[in-house]
Amino acid sequence: MYVPEPISKLIEGFMRLPGIGPKTAQRLSFFVLGMDEEDVLDLAKALVRAKRDLRTCSVCANITDQDPCYICSNPARDRSVICVVQDPRDLMAMERTREYNGLYHVLHGAISPMEGIGPDELKIPDLLRRLEDETVKELILATNPNIEGEATAMYLSKLVKPFGIKVTRIAHGLPVGGDIEFIDEVTLTKALEGRREL
Ligand SMILES: [Zn+2]
Repeated sequence: MYVPEPISKLIEGFMRLPGIGPKTAQRLSFFVLGMDEEDVLDLAKALVRAKRDLRTCSVCANITDQDPCYICSNPARDRSVICVVQDPRDLMAMERTREYNGLYHVLHGAISPMEGIGPDELKIPDLLRRLEDETVKELILATNPNIEGEATAMYLSKLVKPFGIKVTRIAHGLPVGGDIEFIDEVTLTKALEGRREL
């Protein structure tokens, strides 16, 4: 069957996205063809801008368009607490609870010997540098409640203990094997409240 190249390219592009199979890619492609040219341009610009203008915050490694990010540079945030998360999406989930007013540190992954990911592949050295500053009194470990997340939390708690900083782990209410990103605000708020010291 002959498919004009611009359409086949578009279908191929959509198929590179997660969770999009050939049928959905085709449906999306034909939907785009039916859109106003202006809307298509807006969409294309949004894609390029997201890629070009976003970087990681030099302090917390969150995804940001300004450095330091809006959380690190917000004087109203409590600088004595740092919540450690695996992924920028986990940070967004924590922010949605509106219960947390401290700072963050995004590791960009978790320790996984199976995948060859060690502490140096993550933003752990950057985190230790932040802890040298005496304003930090508590580290909340909000890594995922699965094997890699737990291993990372244990590793960090051992590493951070000598700094004399309180280390807590969110636990209560989180399903084991779950993913912080997909947990609802109520459960996550409870988990934050029920954190325990490591
Ligand atoms: Zn930041």
